[in-house]
Amino acid sequence: MRLSRRLSTLRVGSLNNVTRLRENIAAMPGYHSPQVDVPVRLNTNESPFAPPASFVNALVAQLSDVSWNRYPDRKATRLCSAIADRHGVSPSEVFVANGSNEVLQTILIAYGGAGRSVLVNEPGYQMHVQIAKVTGAQVHTVARRGDFTVDEDAFVDALRQRTPHVVFLTSPNNPTGLCDPEHLIDLALVESDAVVVVDEAYAEFGRWSALDRPLHDRVVITRTFSKTWSMAAARLGYAISTTAMVDSLWTTALPYHLDSVKQLAGVLALRFTDEMDERVAAIKGERDRLISQLRSFGCVVVDSDANFVLFEARRGTKDADSIWQELVDRGVLVRNCSSWPGLEGWLRVTIGTPQENDAFLGAMKEITHV
Ligand code: PMP
Repeated sequence: MRLSRRLSTLRVGSLNNVTRLRENIAAMPGYHSPQVDVPVRLNTNESPFAPPASFVNALVAQLSDVSWNRYPDRKATRLCSAIADRHGVSPSEVFVANGSNEVLQTILIAYGGAGRSVLVNEPGYQMHVQIAKVTGAQVHTVARRGDFTVDEDAFVDALRQRTPHVVFLTSPNNPTGLCDPEHLIDLALVESDAVVVVDEAYAEFGRWSALDRPLHDRVVITRTFSKTWSMAAARLGYAISTTAMVDSLWTTALPYHLDSVKQLAGVLALRFTDEMDERVAAIKGERDRLISQLRSFGCVVVDSDANFVLFEARRGTKDADSIWQELVDRGVLVRNCSSWPGLEGWLRVTIGTPQENDAFLGAMKEITHV
């Protein structure tokens, strides 16, 4: 056959390239969080506040010092030192990546993958399941109790029977907002050989941190700059564990994965801890106002130790889908969790600025007043 004929056959054939997609990825729905263009966006748990102007100015001033023709510092030395100082650990106990999602992915590439399994409590952070599956692991789930606390008997049974390679704990948990008990770490360590990932994306709002425990080779704590540090746009996250564990993550990551600007931004951000602490306090205050107002509208609201609130509007006959749509119609976007496992009827709202929260509460008052 002439080359041009073979090429045209190939071109038709290339439409079928999707058949080459790994079966588990073909079967996955992907990550769905509708980005609707409305004035009040309370759907993705970011900080509602821009970073301090002095942070932005300092970053802009330092941009001219970037050696643009050179790859970045591969081990992000200054950034790891700054993070280590903040948490009282050694720089060799810090791994950094593009958002804590990439940190989680790195852990799962290193310790999950084909022929291995991962254990999660559900409902939990959807990306634990998504990244575990994309990287080839099998996922086992333990259903949380009706009040969203972890079913410890079922958790221990699953640890013993499933013998997972990676276990995820999330505290405060997304999307429920509850802190899970610290002793779950010990249970997971004693009852399995798994690497225990403690996802602390919302730790600054929470009640305890695994960072207050001695570091352990099988415990990895993950954190993010996306929430408290008002830097979701930058995509920066980190993990803290023993040097041995952290070394294994550096081995797994791509070389030069973290760009120079982001490294600078991370170092600078950590100089603004007082401002960030003030914002956390303000968000917590707004969160408690939101919870009590929603309850006064007849909603069922889960107590929250995070910067978001999970709620169910029980009054009247409206389901979560119609409440979500009615909020969008009023210019307010929240997260509809109703199709997630164990969350039928539930919505999640991120705490915004006081004005955004007023807009949300005003809309909810109208919607629930049936
Ligand atoms: N973990 C949890 C529990 C989260 O809710 C999120 C963000 N939604 C992340 C990790 C990822 O955060 P990022 O990649 O922005 O650091």
